[in-house]
Amino acid sequence: MRAQPKASHYINGSYVDDEQGKPLDVIYPATGEVIARLHAATPNIVELAVEAARAAQIEWARMRPADRGRILRKAAEILRERNDEIARVETLDTGKAIQETLVADPASAAEALEFFGGVVAGYYGDYIDFGGGPFGYTRREPLGVCVGIGAWNYPIQGAGWKSGPALAMGNAMVFKPSENTPLSALLLAEIFTEAGLPDGLFNVVQGFGDVGAALAGHAVVAKVSVTGSVPTGRKVLALAGSQMKHATMELGGKSPLIIFDDADVENAVGGAMLANFYSTGQVCSNGTRVFVQDGIYDRFLDRLTERTKKIRIGDPLDPDTQMGPLINKAQHEKVTDYIDIGKNEGATLHCGGGVPKLQGFDGGFFVEPTIFTDVKDEMRIAREEIFGPVMSVLSFSREDEVVTRANDTEFGLSAGVFTQNLPRAHRVIAEIKAGSCWINHYNLAPPELPFGGFKQSGVGRENSLAALSHYSQLKAVYVETGDVESPY
Ligand code: NAD
Repeated sequence: MRAQPKASHYINGSYVDDEQGKPLDVIYPATGEVIARLHAATPNIVELAVEAARAAQIEWARMRPADRGRILRKAAEILRERNDEIARVETLDTGKAIQETLVADPASAAEALEFFGGVVAGYYGDYIDFGGGPFGYTRREPLGVCVGIGAWNYPIQGAGWKSGPALAMGNAMVFKPSENTPLSALLLAEIFTEAGLPDGLFNVVQGFGDVGAALAGHAVVAKVSVTGSVPTGRKVLALAGSQMKHATMELGGKSPLIIFDDADVENAVGGAMLANFYSTGQVCSNGTRVFVQDGIYDRFLDRLTERTKKIRIGDPLDPDTQMGPLINKAQHEKVTDYIDIGKNEGATLHCGGGVPKLQGFDGGFFVEPTIFTDVKDEMRIAREEIFGPVMSVLSFSREDEVVTRANDTEFGLSAGVFTQNLPRAHRVIAEIKAGSCWINHYNLAPPELPFGGFKQSGVGRENSLAALSHYSQLKAVYVETGDVESPY
């Protein structure tokens, strides 16, 4: 299996490499084999990318927003045309089942580019009347060069969610994909060029955390947007803060999913499975603490078990496969360690928990979809982000009790509620301290809705008009139409 790109980086409209950079091997998580060899960026590559972005941004910012938007919408169209090819690359890079990447990954990037390409022309400042002549107005101006730093679970989606609002608002971007999944952002860069994006506005540089830090700390860079873990977010936010830079942080979570007695059982089970097993559980917003009310508990658990046991694990490129491997060996060890921790803490391993033996995939990082019951709030499996297909089921009896327990976490990315009682659904969601919430569904993230977290889960928002605000700065202008009254 090979997926070697033309070169490691994409700068100023072309592929470039610098073989002095640290080797960066791309591993197919289903087999452990190396499918591409790249190089991390050297300081020279970082400089080239930032300079290309700086130079290109000046004219781009002067363009009519509707014209910028048209290029983004064209890129969305090409992404859709190349959907199957990009989905395959994404599956090789992440190990996610092709039945997911075909519908979710390039598609989500395309939706974001289309959304921002469409709305930007209608996103403008205000007119403020001071009465009798003078007035004020505001302008939404770009920040300049923005850095995007991606996680490995949704590589092309992350690149699209960051570049869409950045470019629409007249910024340039240097994007560093996760070192685990460097491939698809290069395809997005090619697509932008084909769509007519002027050279230098979207650059991709590869590398580990040190390259991310070099980009975030670069004097020319005005904003940094990270998707990643809380420890990384803290470091980058501190660096950005020390230089008074704008920052958006999309970080981890341990989100609650609350299922009330009156919920539709099939929908609640489907929601809980989506909230824990999609992308092999490697989703930041996953509802990994599933609180189930006493009256529905047995029915819910029976159907959940039945449906979970039917999940087809295996070859990610087989369209019938529903769950692929985890991203790499380290993540596999982390997830299997947490399964041991859960058992040792006294939770009941209700379902899964093993490492499946799959013919032809001995070197892969597979783990079974896993359900723990009898989970207590203080257990580590109920408090720490595992980032794998490990669901904790907890029982509850009262609404006020579950709200308190759901909020008892340092995180605040997401939450979900399943109930047919709409007043209760809205009442509970209003009480939950989380940024991205669902009622009677889970994990849908259309670009029209802001996405991001409360508390340790992040700062700022991706998607929606909120993202355009985070990729721009507001200029206020006072206009006098009469004489200047001065006491001097
Ligand atoms: P990570 O924090 O290890 O890495 C994220 C990115 O940051 C990578 O590109 C990495 O190279 C870079 N990086 C690491 N150290 C850096 C530094 N000091 N300066 C600058 N950049 C640095 O996270 P990961 O393991 O790739 O992703 C998993 C985490 O991401 C999970 O915690 C998950 O919840 C979170 N996540 C959040 C969202 C969201 O939108 N909230 C989405 C996906 C993943």
